[in-house]
Amino acid sequence: CSDDYEDDEEDINNYYNNNEDDFADSEEEDGDSTSNNNDIKTSNNNDINQSGIIMTSKLEHFSSKTMTVSETNEFLWKDCDKASVVLSITPAMSRLVLQASKWKLAVIKTRLYKTNKPNFLESGLQNATNSKSIEKVKSSRPKVCGVCLETLHRSKLLALNCGHQFCDGCWKQHMVFAVKDGMSQGIPCMEPECTLLCHPDFVKQFYPVNQDSPLETAYKTHLFRISVSSHYQLRFCPGVDCTSVIYGEKPKPRKVQCLTCKTAFCFECGTPPHIPTNCETIKKWLTKCADDSETANYISANTKDCPKCHICIEKNGGCNHIKCSKCSHNFCWMCLGDWKNHGNSYYECSRYKENPRIASKNSQTQAREALKKYLFYFQRWENHDRSLHLEAQARSRIQTQIEEKVNSNQGTWIDWQYLLRAGELLAQCRYTLQYTYPLVYYAETGPEKALFEYQQAQLEVEIEGLAWKLEHAGEYQRGDIENQMDVAEKRRQTLLARFVTV
Ligand SMILES: [Zn+2]
Ligand SMILES: [Zn+2]
Ligand SMILES: [Zn+2]
Ligand SMILES: [Zn+2]
Ligand SMILES: [Zn+2]
Ligand SMILES: [Zn+2]
Repeated sequence: CSDDYEDDEEDINNYYNNNEDDFADSEEEDGDSTSNNNDIKTSNNNDINQSGIIMTSKLEHFSSKTMTVSETNEFLWKDCDKASVVLSITPAMSRLVLQASKWKLAVIKTRLYKTNKPNFLESGLQNATNSKSIEKVKSSRPKVCGVCLETLHRSKLLALNCGHQFCDGCWKQHMVFAVKDGMSQGIPCMEPECTLLCHPDFVKQFYPVNQDSPLETAYKTHLFRISVSSHYQLRFCPGVDCTSVIYGEKPKPRKVQCLTCKTAFCFECGTPPHIPTNCETIKKWLTKCADDSETANYISANTKDCPKCHICIEKNGGCNHIKCSKCSHNFCWMCLGDWKNHGNSYYECSRYKENPRIASKNSQTQAREALKKYLFYFQRWENHDRSLHLEAQARSRIQTQIEEKVNSNQGTWIDWQYLLRAGELLAQCRYTLQYTYPLVYYAETGPEKALFEYQQAQLEVEIEGLAWKLEHAGEYQRGDIENQMDVAEKRRQTLLARFVTV
């Protein structure tokens, strides 16, 4: 028996004793507590790549563990055991209490200490009129089952703490229906209006002798779902067909990655990682995009005309710095502006200029302006998304090119690795950039927004610089590209450090 999670309780206590919002001091503990768990896949948050660039930072994600179903079950029962000692009830009963408290043992302890009463009421272990009726079960007079109305000896009737007695057969029917029904919150007592829930020990007596009966399996699956969903430190991996559970030591709205299927998601809300935008805003944005998808589809295009010679150009790379194949004019794909001055005027390219007098206009004009603003940000959001896909294809081409070079004795594999690293860094920077747009869309006009837009534009310049150099890698020295990588990542980190607040 291993004590992998022995220190969790202490951590939870620290969590409540210290400032709830400030984890900075205890951040160092992450390394220690995760290294004890050799059997559980741990993702580290300090991957430093060969060129010394920190690929991920604490601003973006936090340490997590990927657990299998059985590891998770073991973890949950350990919590139940701890709670059962504190509450002097069985582990199965304490499971209901834990579920009602998001599995925060420290909260249960604090409540017990302060009020001398555990939350048996909220957890459905006890009802408001208490359980004097339990004693009646011991009397020997026959009684009628409230459901099937059969008169039975009292020893044949079963009740929860509320004392509502029903026969074995009726309870079993009730369990079968509840389980088939999806049992979203636990199986309630059969008495109408009664708020008590059947704890796992109570349910267990109605299983058929056969160990792996469908009822038992379904019940266990439901119980597992409820337990994980109610646990403040656990999340189901949202990956398709993945059964892994992710454990986050000190939960935050940050990126975690499932080490089984590699799916990355926000621990708080389960959507794809969305730093620097917060959970609430990204939800609003994604809903809006889904609702307005028809409007948006209509404007998205893969082709545009060269602003100088008007030849139709199809964009097939990720870079937004376009050079016309006919007249060699350099222009910006997003705003069609001349690229020459673009480095300095990027602020104008990525910033939507709101009409200052819009409030005085009629509602039709306001609606048109609102749509214009949305489409402006949506186009940029979507364009970066498309660039990410195109650049992913480019990375696999780079891989092939490196193989060819190495095979024809033009340097070693290690010599060309920087190109792949540049591709990965570009993807990371572009991803962050893409997720800056929902934030700006909803931001209130003011100095904070202006500063954000300024830093966003700076990041945009460096990212397109990197994209261009990578697409024309043959024309640039390794040092050139590595410098560009360094600058882009520094810009990204600066933006995150300033604007990631939660
Ligand atoms: Zn009955
Ligand atoms: Zn009851
Ligand atoms: Zn997964
Ligand atoms: Zn989130
Ligand atoms: Zn042209
Ligand atoms: Zn532009």
